[in-house]
Amino acid sequence: MAKESSVKHILLVPDGMADRPLDELGGKTPMQVARKPNMDYLATNGQVGIVHTIPPGMDPGSDVAAMSLLGYDPRKYYTGRAPIEAAAMRIPLDAKDVAFRCNLVSSDGETMIDYSGGHVSTEEARELITLVNEKLGNGRISFYPGVSYRHIMVWRGGSPDVKTTPPHNIIGKPIKGYLPEGDGDQLLRGLMFDSLDLLDDHPINRRRRGEGKPPANMIWLWGQGFSLNLPGFFAKTGLTGAVIAAVDLVKGLGVAVGLDAPSVPGATGYLDTDYEAKADYALDALRERDFVLIHVEAPDEAGHNGDIDAKIEAIESVDKLVLGRLLDGLKGVKRFRILVVPDHVTPISIRTHAEDPVPFALFSSFEPGDGSVPFDERAVEETKLRVEEGFRLIDLLLESS
Ligand SMILES: [Zn+2]
Repeated sequence: MAKESSVKHILLVPDGMADRPLDELGGKTPMQVARKPNMDYLATNGQVGIVHTIPPGMDPGSDVAAMSLLGYDPRKYYTGRAPIEAAAMRIPLDAKDVAFRCNLVSSDGETMIDYSGGHVSTEEARELITLVNEKLGNGRISFYPGVSYRHIMVWRGGSPDVKTTPPHNIIGKPIKGYLPEGDGDQLLRGLMFDSLDLLDDHPINRRRRGEGKPPANMIWLWGQGFSLNLPGFFAKTGLTGAVIAAVDLVKGLGVAVGLDAPSVPGATGYLDTDYEAKADYALDALRERDFVLIHVEAPDEAGHNGDIDAKIEAIESVDKLVLGRLLDGLKGVKRFRILVVPDHVTPISIRTHAEDPVPFALFSSFEPGDGSVPFDERAVEETKLRVEEGFRLIDLLLESS
C-alpha cells in the first residue's frame, strides 16, 4: 500500500456526455435530464467549471481531447491517430517510422461500401492481414493485425505528409476523390488496390458473401503520423497511475506516457459495457497507485447513434455503476480528489463531435467546495471557473495540498 497520507486522484471521462439543448427534452440536455445523484453530490460539495479540451483549429477527436485531459498540449504532441493506436497495440516505432491506421473495408474498387468490412471478426481479419503482410509487406512496410476491422501499417522511413480520409466519412461515396494525395501517394494507392486483388476472391470473403455479409476485401490507409514522443506521466507529475479504457485511442495514450493499462474483461466500449468492472479495476489500481483515468465510451456511442434515451441511460449508468461504486470503494480512503469531465460534446442533434467547451466537476474529500453551479452545460454561462487550455485542467486535480 502507498503511504496513508498520499492523495488518490481519479479522472472519470464519460466520453461525449455533454450535449446541446434538445426540443425533444423541452430545451434541456441529456445531462440535465439524467438522474445523476453521485455527480450532483460531487458538484454540490465541490466545484463546477468549464474547459476547452480542443485547441482552436484542431479536430474534435477523442484522441486530441484525451491528450488534453491527461495534461499534454495537443498542439505540441499530437502526431495523428494511428501512432496512439499503435502504442495501445504495443507496436514498436522508431523516430522515422510512420504509422497508418489500416481498415479492412468493403469496396468494389469504386465505392466505399462499408468502412468496417461488415464488422469482420478478429479471427478472419487476422488471416487476411497476415496474408496482406506476406504478399505486400517488405523491409519498409509491415502490417499488424488488431481487433475486427482496425489494424496498423508501419512505413519505415515513410512520409506523414499525405492527405488521407477516414473511411467512415465517405460511406457510399466514390473512393476516387478520397485516395491518398501527396508525398508517397502512389505507394499507398498501390498497396490499397493490390490488397483488393489479393482479398476480393479470398475463401473468407467468398464465404462472407455466401452468408450475405459484406466482404472485407480491401485495406484503407489513413490517420497517419510519426510515433508519439510524450514525457512520461511519472516524470511530469511524480505520480504512478493506470488507465482503465476499452478503446485503443485512450488506452494508447496511457501506454505512451507509461501508465499501466490493464485489459478489463467485459469492457466493450459500447452500451453493453461492464460498467462495474471498470470501477472495480480502478479501485484495484488505486491500491498501489496515485492516479487513475477511467474512460467510458457509452455516452459518445449513443450520441453518434442519435439516441436520446440511450444517452440518458448511459449517463445514469456511469453515475450509478461507475461513480457510485467508486465512491463506495473509497469510503476507507481519507484523502482523494475526483474530476468528472466529458472529453468533448457529442450532440444528439449533429451525431458527431464538436468543439464546444464542456462542464467539469471537481471534488475533494479534504478541501471545501462552493456548490453554486449545477454540473451540466449551463455551467458555460454560469461558472467563473474557466480553463481555456484543456491541458492545464489536470493541474486542478493533481495540485499538491
Ligand atoms: Zn470522445
